[in-house]
Amino acid sequence: KQAKAEAEEATGTAKIGVEAKKESDFPKWYQQVLTRSDMLEYYDVSGCYIIRPWAYNIWKEITAFFDGAITEMGVEDAYFPMFVSQRVLEREKDHIEGFAPEVAWVTKAGSSDLEEPVAIRPTSETVMYPYYAKWIRSHRDLPLRLNQWCSVVRWEFKHPQPFLRTREFLWQEGHTAHLTKEGAGEEVYEILDLYRQVYEDLLAVPVIKGIKSEKEKFAGGLYTTTCEAFIPTTGRGIQGATSHCLGQNFAKMFNIVVEDPNTPADAGEPEKLFVWQNSWGITTRTIGVMVMVHGDDKGLVLPPRVASVQVIVVPCGITARSTEEDRKRINAGVEEVVRTLKRAGVRARSDVRDNYTPGYKFNHWELRGVPIRLEVGPKDLEKRSTMSVRRDNGSKAAIAMDDLQTAVPALLRTIQDDMFARAKATFNQHVCRVEKWDDFVPTLNGKNLVLIPWCEREECEDSIKERSARADEGEEQDERAPSMGAKSLCIPLELPQDGTIVPGETKCVACDHHAKRYALFGRSY
Ligand code: AMP
Repeated sequence: KQAKAEAEEATGTAKIGVEAKKESDFPKWYQQVLTRSDMLEYYDVSGCYIIRPWAYNIWKEITAFFDGAITEMGVEDAYFPMFVSQRVLEREKDHIEGFAPEVAWVTKAGSSDLEEPVAIRPTSETVMYPYYAKWIRSHRDLPLRLNQWCSVVRWEFKHPQPFLRTREFLWQEGHTAHLTKEGAGEEVYEILDLYRQVYEDLLAVPVIKGIKSEKEKFAGGLYTTTCEAFIPTTGRGIQGATSHCLGQNFAKMFNIVVEDPNTPADAGEPEKLFVWQNSWGITTRTIGVMVMVHGDDKGLVLPPRVASVQVIVVPCGITARSTEEDRKRINAGVEEVVRTLKRAGVRARSDVRDNYTPGYKFNHWELRGVPIRLEVGPKDLEKRSTMSVRRDNGSKAAIAMDDLQTAVPALLRTIQDDMFARAKATFNQHVCRVEKWDDFVPTLNGKNLVLIPWCEREECEDSIKERSARADEGEEQDERAPSMGAKSLCIPLELPQDGTIVPGETKCVACDHHAKRYALFGRSY
């Protein structure tokens, strides 16, 4: 029923353009942008969606970048089965406690019940680690670093949202084993920075790197690092990607041990060491965050680095009085522009469909977020010039045909940088330092994230969540003023603003314990 409702909500896909306004009806705007730009199609299983080429191409850019970077680090790809037996899935107690409510089970084959139901992986720690125990025989087998690109299934009961929270999603999951805690720790942060690069350098989406609280860390892990992004329209934070140090918990449960290479020769039996493990993942959520951050009332706005079409070249100025020859000449000019751009490494395409007006084509490609439109008309051709129009800010400038090879790549870089700078400035404006509780909820209600000196206690985190939700009661409760409580998003690695904590003196903003570090709180997805 829910899937049907979602699909109906999203109908009208044949319509061109986005009618809903980003500021006044964000949920509808998001649905319309995704479906009408041909990124996504609704599906008849709730929480599952079809990723169409216009969106999948972005995922390909992300995977190409990340795959190149981890290959360079020495990580290799492998593929493990999607099914896991109950016995193995439940081996690590905290892990299964965290994931149990979302695990989907296969209980039947045809019409007969399976003797033992099998689970579909929500993540693959338990799938892989029995074999890590088998393959890691000596410290010389370390580090073992494997990655797999796959989909996982988490039967989430929270409101599903295309890309952001889906029941099946695409991701990579890296799983590594190290001899030392330090070796593992170094990699955790190296991967975290690659995730930052995916968001900031590819998607032009600013993030804050940090560490999760004990309550929010990965089930069964030692500590979780995260890239937190921000959706200004709703004022909500979103966990962008996570890199976990699992410590030795899984190694103990799965018996992944090596002999200590540093045992002195005369010490007799070498000591057994449990390996130190990490796991890290980034998902198709990235695409949804990018759409929400950059999109506008005309539709998608794609950062050039991930746009599968960076420049659309449109013939203009063909009128009823134009001759067939005029038309041929203009289209030939258009194709020449495309060829030149392709030679310069630009992903360019022409739109020479003769059954649509230039205005229609402008809307078509604006809706799809193509970073630059180049218009080629009869007068332009005479001057050997083109008119460029930027999707991100609408600004126009003539570019000589002979300069295209250098001017267009430079313009694409400028657009990429400007998009990031704008998003970063907005993000900074919405991270507010708060030094007393009375300011906490009002600041949150102003669509901000809140940075506070914090005691880092779980009871305090629960109480913040409760008090920041209750404080909203009675007010209008829609998507723009969510009544949900605030969660801790992360303890930032670098403080986004000045602030010092005097140990034993500075108080937690939310209780009367002493503060340990600054933490970022916010309503979140
Ligand atoms: P985890 O294995 O729980 O650390 O998840 C890795 C990353 O996946 C998280 O940091 C989220 O960014 C993302 N993620 C978690 N749940 C979903 C979901 N239902 N749909 C899409 N992405 C998700």
